[in-house]
Formats: sequence, structure tokens, C-alpha cells
Amino acid sequence: MRLVRVVREMVDLDPEISGRDVLVRLEALADEAVEQTEAALLASEPDHAECAKCGKPIETTAGDRERWVHSDSDRSRGCRAATFTENEGWNDEIPRTWKAQPKKR
Ligand SMILES: [Zn+2]
Repeated sequence: MRLVRVVREMVDLDPEISGRDVLVRLEALADEAVEQTEAALLASEPDHAECAKCGKPIETTAGDRERWVHSDSDRSRGCRAATFTENEGWNDEIPRTWKAQPKKR
């Protein structure tokens, strides 16, 4: 509906306006809308959860609500890397294939 209003205003201002000019204006508005959506996503807080595999805290990465990383230290996706500590080293009970994944809510 917003686009209909924009086109209506353009035609009211210039009844001779070309379809090409209208298209250019609408494309600019579409680009603007995409940029605003991306900016809002980046500015919003990540989701927080507990890893269903290793139990460590995890969060979504900026701009992608489907991509989870472990919140501690290195923000890695893999549970094995996330549970590594300098004192205790690797936890061999954690398979390398485990990736950060939220518990089902
Ligand atoms: Zn994990």
C-alpha cells in the first residue's frame, strides 16, 4: 500500500512521468527497505540458549538467527572447541561432529 501511495504522489506531481522514472524510484525504495531490515537485525540482541549437546551457553550470531555459537571465549560452533580449557585440554567424550544447537523449546 505504501508503494501505491508513492506512485500516486509521483503521478500527481508529474502526470507525464515515465514508467522508467517510477521504476527507478520504486527500486530505490526497495533497496532502502532491505538496508533497514538488515540494520535492524544487526542492532538487535542475539538469542541466548543452552547447548543441547554440551550444555554450554550459546547465542545466535549477528544477522543470522539460525546460526548458533558457544558464548564462552572463542565463540566457536563446535562443542569440542567450546569445552577446551587450558588446564584440562580437550574433552575426548565430546565428538568433533557436535555443533552448537539450542535445546528444543
Ligand atoms: Zn555445545
